[in-house]
Amino acid sequence: MKPVIALVGRPNVGKSTLFNRMTKSRDAIVADYAGLTRDRHYGQGRQGKHEYIVIDTGGFEPDATSGIFKEMAKQTRQAVAEADVVLFVVDVRLGLSAQDHEIAGFLRRLGKPAMLVGNKAEGMKDGGQLSEFYELGLGEVFPVSAAHGQGIRTMIDMALEKLPWLNQDEDAEPEEDDSVIKLAVAGRPNVGKSTLINTWLGEERLVAFDMAGTTRDAIAVPFEKNGQKFQLIDTAGLRRKGRVFEAIEKFSVVKTLQAIEGANVVLLLLDATQGVTDQDAHIAGFILESGRAVVLAVNKWDALDDYGRQMLERSIELRLSFLKFAPLHFISAKKRQGLGPVWTSMIQAHKSSTCKMPTPVLTRLLLESVQFQTPKKIGPYRPKLRYAHQGGMNPPVIVIHGNSLEHITDAYRRFLEGRFRKEFNLIGTPLRIEFKTSL
Ligand code: GDP
Ligand code: GDP
Repeated sequence: MKPVIALVGRPNVGKSTLFNRMTKSRDAIVADYAGLTRDRHYGQGRQGKHEYIVIDTGGFEPDATSGIFKEMAKQTRQAVAEADVVLFVVDVRLGLSAQDHEIAGFLRRLGKPAMLVGNKAEGMKDGGQLSEFYELGLGEVFPVSAAHGQGIRTMIDMALEKLPWLNQDEDAEPEEDDSVIKLAVAGRPNVGKSTLINTWLGEERLVAFDMAGTTRDAIAVPFEKNGQKFQLIDTAGLRRKGRVFEAIEKFSVVKTLQAIEGANVVLLLLDATQGVTDQDAHIAGFILESGRAVVLAVNKWDALDDYGRQMLERSIELRLSFLKFAPLHFISAKKRQGLGPVWTSMIQAHKSSTCKMPTPVLTRLLLESVQFQTPKKIGPYRPKLRYAHQGGMNPPVIVIHGNSLEHITDAYRRFLEGRFRKEFNLIGTPLRIEFKTSL
């Protein structure tokens, strides 16, 4: 499971700048997608072989009158509680403040791995300004400059080193059973996740089979449907009660993120009676960012009339345009309507995400596409596309080689994507196209 790093500290010390630095590598992946709204408080990053989740607790402010954390948003408190390691960010230019002492006290009481990070340390001779932070009782302060990107890599390494289970888990990585589709049902509270899962489990006889890779406190329910093995993974916001699931009061973004990451296929549930909310869009954004296969289902379809249904379809088109590749279903978990096709889509999405695309087929398709429609000449440059190969799976990546490929327009990229998707029948998976210009 990916470790969770939380950034805490008073306002203006540079937490969001640091957050952007730590999540940058992932940003490039989703740069192509229009309409994506990001949740600025939760992001993902990678350093070397380690991937991690970062939370920017923007709301971590002590109560102005009482000087304690009474007013600290519940959400923020929960995020800190769920973090594996906390980076406490201070401003080495401004020096220590009373708020820093408050936060340090809070972290000491929390008793989880923490690291003191001194931001804005660019061009500083170490020594002087840093020593006063010893007072906080959290050990040495590690100097960085978020704005200039100094010290960040070492800081991340040091933070992750505080988590001994991280490397152990990796060494003991159990063999994955490829024949099992790991499935996460994501969605905000009340969309009908537990109703749907209970409907499923009520319909199907649970077939137990040996399963490797059960992670820390995961809810793992293996079952079989039409001969395909599934494993329902730790579904955020649910608790298992005997055979059935029930919704828990507390919604956790971190758990949602981890469930998405741990899945092969994510079923994103929306609530027909609520339309597409910001929280839906954020969860959809996490799924896109994860590169997982995804199927959309609008639940409670029974509760809408024709007009309501039209309005909703329109708002999905607008707000979730970046998930256009995902099959969309309208269902009623309660009335058991429309559930069959969702299974077909989930299996198809999984197949698409692990599709193998041979180089000769890709190259032939590329050259046919160019013949059908040549890329536009931009100034003196006409992009020349030469050959293509598969650069990765899950999600599939197609690497196209040629000359002047930096002049390929977005429209042309979309045209190619459409052709590749059609040829390989890719449904419910993102498809990445990378251009490599040879000199
Ligand atoms: P937050 O409120 O803790 O999220 O802080 P921000 O990330 O919004 O940063 C607050 C201010 O500090 C901004 O004006 C940043 O440009 C500036 N800042 C952030 N990191 C650095 C740094 O490494 N060096 C300097 N000199 N300024 C920084
Ligand atoms: P969760 O928080 O996502 O697990 O949501 P629940 O499964 O607890 O459902 C929330 C509410 O929506 C409950 O009152 C359900 O009875 C209701 N609900 C679930 N599915 C449907 C449906 O298909 N149609 C209607 N009208 N209500 C539903």
